[in-house]
Amino acid sequence: MAARHCAPGGTRFLLYPQAPIINPGQDPEVVVVSSPAGSVGPGPEDDRMYAISPVDKWPPYGMQTRRDGTNYLHLPPWEGEIYPPPEPDGEGHFDHIDPESREFQAAHLFGCVRFVLDIWEDYFGHRIDWHFGDDFEQMELVNLPEYDNGHIGYGFLEVGSNLTRGGVFTLDCTNFDVIAHEVGHGIIYSMVGVPDPEKETGEYNGFHESAADLVAIVSCLHFDSVMDGLLANTHGNLYMLNRLNRIAELSENEQIRIASNPLTMSRFVHGWRKEHKLSQPLTGAIFDTLVDIFHEQLLDRGLISPEVEDLADQYEYDDRYQSIVQDMFDTSYVGNEAEFKDALTESRDIVGACLAETWRRLPPDHLTYKLVGEILSEVDRDFNDSAYHRIIASNFDQREIGMVETGPQLAKLPKENHMDSSRRMTPDSRELADGRKLSYCERMRVARRLAG
Ligand SMILES: [Zn+2]
Repeated sequence: MAARHCAPGGTRFLLYPQAPIINPGQDPEVVVVSSPAGSVGPGPEDDRMYAISPVDKWPPYGMQTRRDGTNYLHLPPWEGEIYPPPEPDGEGHFDHIDPESREFQAAHLFGCVRFVLDIWEDYFGHRIDWHFGDDFEQMELVNLPEYDNGHIGYGFLEVGSNLTRGGVFTLDCTNFDVIAHEVGHGIIYSMVGVPDPEKETGEYNGFHESAADLVAIVSCLHFDSVMDGLLANTHGNLYMLNRLNRIAELSENEQIRIASNPLTMSRFVHGWRKEHKLSQPLTGAIFDTLVDIFHEQLLDRGLISPEVEDLADQYEYDDRYQSIVQDMFDTSYVGNEAEFKDALTESRDIVGACLAETWRRLPPDHLTYKLVGEILSEVDRDFNDSAYHRIIASNFDQREIGMVETGPQLAKLPKENHMDSSRRMTPDSRELADGRKLSYCERMRVARRLAG
């Protein structure tokens, strides 16, 4: 699978693999997206989307409440003033824009969305249509720093600003993880769809967050610097990432830290509150599958011995053996850096392509993590001759997926919850506020979203 950062004839952008404030001193990378040079206009804008930095836009898009307490759905397009848009250079590229300028923010937002879409359209093997394509041709990408969240919804992707866990203020338009995660939600709305409210499971919501994180993780591994950094820090012993106390040192990437979590489904037997927490066993199972496939690739290429792989496997969670395993990886890595990177690239693309096919086959109704595992195994059978059957089964088992039942949702979603109501609101939902009689299902859907 060709990495898009060298798409010939495409348009150049400067992208930060990690928010610059989180990783100061890091230069943005030149990325070439698939849009032919010259086809992206000021904004930037192409046939799929356009970015804007609006002046005094409030509130954010989505379901909003008027002063009299009634609700309405706020949707694009923004018709007010905007700050001057970034302009392409004479050859149609955007990599000349000063990263300190305001124009850079919209260019970065657009470049990230286009880059992530390129990567996943490659994995799916076709164009990914917007789920709101019936009503909007283009998606409006909004840079709204006043907003303390990021969300994708009907016709828009809107990002604000954030305080990191370390208490650092960061603009989401320069945060690749945040943008890629939102595009991930968009991909799932398009490819899996939304369940009938009566057939919606708690695990559907966890699955959505998990898929969005996985889109961000696989996408960030398309940056050379992320790949190089991960290998330089671990020498290929990615099991190290599962040892939480060291993750911060090993990867500045927040999504990777979330992915290498130890949570199992027992944790949710009595219920769950936030879908992002509920998503973690599934994300963990798939991330561990990626790590295991990588080690398998190293083994196949003769880069590590079966003994190293066995030992790494066996003592994944046992600190006493870590230094022995690490020594073995250190020895294997030195002098074979390029081959290790090749193996990780191949593993990333196996997982990306298998996830895409899994999502294409997955129905939104009655969705469970167990079903995700079963379909992933089917895809492995169809694509890889079941080469990774054992790996997938053992990682899903380790997370107790399908072994325990997920309990009920314990509390209403807090208003700031990430899986917010705005995402699923469609022009149909807007009619509620305007008094049109809705069907039972529509009323259920709107009532539940409003309650959220
Ligand atoms: Zn999310």
